[in-house]
This record gives sequence, C-alpha cells and structure tokens, in this order.
Amino acid sequence: MSGSADQRARANAFTVDVEEWFHMCGVGGELAPARWDALPSRVAETTRSLLGELDDAGIRATFFVLGWVADRYPALVQEIAQAGHEVGSHGYSHRRAYEIGPAGFADDLRRSVASLRAAGVPNVATFRAPEWSINDRSLWALDVLAAEGFTADASMAPLRIVGSVDYPRHPHVRQTAAGSILELPPFVTDRFGHVMPIGWGWGLRMSSPARVLRTIESANRAGIPAVLTVHPWEIDQDPPRVALPPRLRFAHYFRLGGFRERLRRVLRGAEFGALSDLAACH
Ligand SMILES: [Zn+2]
Repeated sequence: MSGSADQRARANAFTVDVEEWFHMCGVGGELAPARWDALPSRVAETTRSLLGELDDAGIRATFFVLGWVADRYPALVQEIAQAGHEVGSHGYSHRRAYEIGPAGFADDLRRSVASLRAAGVPNVATFRAPEWSINDRSLWALDVLAAEGFTADASMAPLRIVGSVDYPRHPHVRQTAAGSILELPPFVTDRFGHVMPIGWGWGLRMSSPARVLRTIESANRAGIPAVLTVHPWEIDQDPPRVALPPRLRFAHYFRLGGFRERLRRVLRGAEFGALSDLAACH
C-alpha cells in the first residue's frame, strides 16, 4: 500500500485488536497481569506479519492497540500509522468494562490514549473494548467514550454471552449523556439456529473463505457492512500454549491451523477499508 490515505467509502471494514497472546480476560495464575512482562512476547512479530498481509492485499484497516503494547512497542505503533492504517484504542490493561466500572474505565481509557499519543498518534477517536465488554452491564461506557471525545465505538457484539442478539447488526448512532456516538458492530450471521461470529474469533477461523465471502456479499446486498476482526496471535506460526478453561481454550486455540492462508483468501475476495472508510462514517 502506498500509505496515502484513499478515503473512498468501502463496503466492509477490517480491524485488528493489537494485543499479546496472553491478554485474555478473566484468567489468573501464570497469565495474571503481574506476570505479563515475564511471558514470551509475540505481538511485534505477529503484528508485522499482519501488516505484510494487509500491504499485499492493498487494504487499509483499523488497528485497536492496547496501551500496554503501545508503551512497550512505540515503534510498532508508528509502523501501523505510517502504513496508512487507522489507530484506535483497545484500552490500556485489557480489562472488561463492566468489571472496572465507570471511573476505572475512564482511567484505563485515558491511560491508553496517553500511551498512543506518546507513541506518536495524536488523535484517537475510535474504541473497542476488550472481549466486546460494552453491553447491557456497561452502557455507561458509551457516555465515557463520548465525554472523552470518541466519535465511534466497535464494542457491542450482536451475540449472546458477550453482548446480545437484540443489538443491531448495522452501524447505528447511539445517544449518550455526552452526545452521540457511532456504534459499528462486529459481523455475525445466523447458522444452525444460532447467531455465529462469522467475522471474528472461532466463527471466522472455522468457516471456509468461500462461505465467509458469500455471507459478506449477502449482507452487503442488504446494506450491511461486514466488520471483520483478527488478533495478531491468530496468525502466529508458533503460538505459546498454556492450559486454559474450556471456553477460553476454544476462543484462543480452535482451528488456528491454516488460518493465515484462509484469511488471505478472504482479504482478496471482498472490499475492505478502515472503519472510518465505511459509508456510514461519511
Ligand atoms: Zn482484546
């Protein structure tokens, strides 16, 4: 990619949550935050691999960078920005919004913005919460985001457990105590009588590229943009493995094999841009 921002509206968006393989919510023991600096770091290498894939495919994306990562790898943040990608915040310490409460969330958010600024990104206006954790338990987080000057959020998953199947699947404006904010939900589809995250996580990893692309096409025909999300650790050729509870084991390890090649075919089969390139943002 040339690095010159082509701001033409795109049908779909590609996003990356820039975090380490050990940034999981709700785990302690050997993956407890106090141990993070002692664990093998993979984020710089795997994020650079993703940058290469996006460059090869000519795609500008949105990178939600964790403040913890920005503090340790400011040059990586610079590489992302200089490649023409949009940089958003994924919070600082990768904690769920509803666990840290409004004051804790505001502190964590401000700290992440300060880290991104120190890494050379002066304006951060888009947010994604760890583990899609803006839901009915934490709608106040949208007020905090708007009050802090954020104009878009991509945290509300139309999926049970992490969000709600009742949440809209299309970009929509939400009113908050501090003004409106644009909500950009991650891509889901209906499959086997359930809502499935075909645009991220195990849903994206288990689906064939052809199926993902067909689902994107039919959503686009209905006027819905697909917002896809990956993590750098999902394309790690040699991911560190640890014992995890079943739900996290599934979320983190299910069908990683061959994912990078499948992702490559998805990237080449549909039109993607950054979140701010979506028609809803123009
Ligand atoms: Zn995350």
